Amino acid sequence: MGRISKGANCSVSGCDKLAVRSISQDKAQSASLDVGVTRRAYICLDHYKELKKKLKNKRKIDKWRWSA
Ligand SMILES: [Zn+2]
Repeated sequence: MGRISKGANCSVSGCDKLAVRSISQDKAQSASLDVGVTRRAYICLDHYKELKKKLKNKRKIDKWRWSA
């Protein structure tokens, strides 16, 4: 699970680090990562951390909005 082929690079524009995770384009977009037009996006550890942080913040805002 979550395995990616060896040697894949990060799909985020301007980043050519080694990818550690593959995510759906939807997920990438919801974290405003520029991965271009692709079904699966590959992201490096740095961008994965960024993604997690952004999605967490987003969830927090949504939660706050819904409970208000
Ligand atoms: Zn990256």
